[in-house]
Amino acid sequence: MSGRVVLLTTGGTIAMRHDPDAGGLVPDIGGSAARPFPENVCPLDVREFSNIPSPQMTPGRMHALALRVEEELARGDVMGVVIAHGTDTLEETAYFLDLFVDSPKPVCLTAAMRGAEEISPDGPKNLLCAVRTAAAREAEGMGTLVVMNEEIHAAREVTKTHSANPKTFASPFWGPLGYVDADRVIFRRAPVKPLKIRPPRIEDNVHLIKLAAGSDDFFFRCLVEKKAAAGIVVEGFGRGNVPPRAFDGMKLAIENGIPVVLTTRCPGGRVLDIYAYEGGVSQQLKAGVILGGEISGPKARIKLILALGETRDPARIAALFDNP
Ligand code: ASP
Repeated sequence: MSGRVVLLTTGGTIAMRHDPDAGGLVPDIGGSAARPFPENVCPLDVREFSNIPSPQMTPGRMHALALRVEEELARGDVMGVVIAHGTDTLEETAYFLDLFVDSPKPVCLTAAMRGAEEISPDGPKNLLCAVRTAAAREAEGMGTLVVMNEEIHAAREVTKTHSANPKTFASPFWGPLGYVDADRVIFRRAPVKPLKIRPPRIEDNVHLIKLAAGSDDFFFRCLVEKKAAAGIVVEGFGRGNVPPRAFDGMKLAIENGIPVVLTTRCPGGRVLDIYAYEGGVSQQLKAGVILGGEISGPKARIKLILALGETRDPARIAALFDNP
């Protein structure tokens, strides 16, 4: 193994300590609570990118992180980059990087569910596995990866499934790409390669509206009346069908020039024009709604944030969503 791995720390539980005065976990000064760093795998450059809990992560910070990752990967002696992150929004940052970063070198996100001072913290082992994956030839060309609990997941497929259990990251319907064993990193399949979206700037004024039985046009009207959105992602039901009054809101947004992307609140499957009743996807398509494929609402929002940085043309946005 020749070369080094760069570890960019962003914060999260992996870098938190219990503060009795604050009454809970808080970011550790310097973001270094995840020690010991696994320096026995290969030379490791540890750099603090930020020291925030991941609910404070923003698309703007993701963009800055993506540029930083590319800068590190451009160095000839760097084999791969590891990012230590909070678990809460990790899948969004991972998907952003997967769509944006254009390099065959591995980018591995990892995290912890337990603070560094708890019994049996999961952070050190997760870091070790992520560094080993970032240094593995087998991981080249696999896109952005999430390495947790010795499993390797594709950024597009992975999601946080449990609010507390350390075995929280899973790829429903697909499973992990591979795993980190005691002697080597093993891949069992390769992810579908995403189309890269690399706008010079991002449009982060994109809102996600999750629908429930009886949802109406209220949030859509607010966004239209306040001229507050450059794009809207909707989480509909099943194949993507929505209540009639919410559909009125979606039409209003489209009439006002706001692209509306449809996703499903189901954890698996695509949205598709199977139903033609009021609010069904057939009617939505005629009204100009863009189908979001099989990615989740939060991930579709990340994709729309990048897509809108590149184009405002609904046909071009639809083409980007028609691709994994
Ligand atoms: N709330 C924390 C965060 O996402 C949880 C974690 O790090 O796992 O930063």
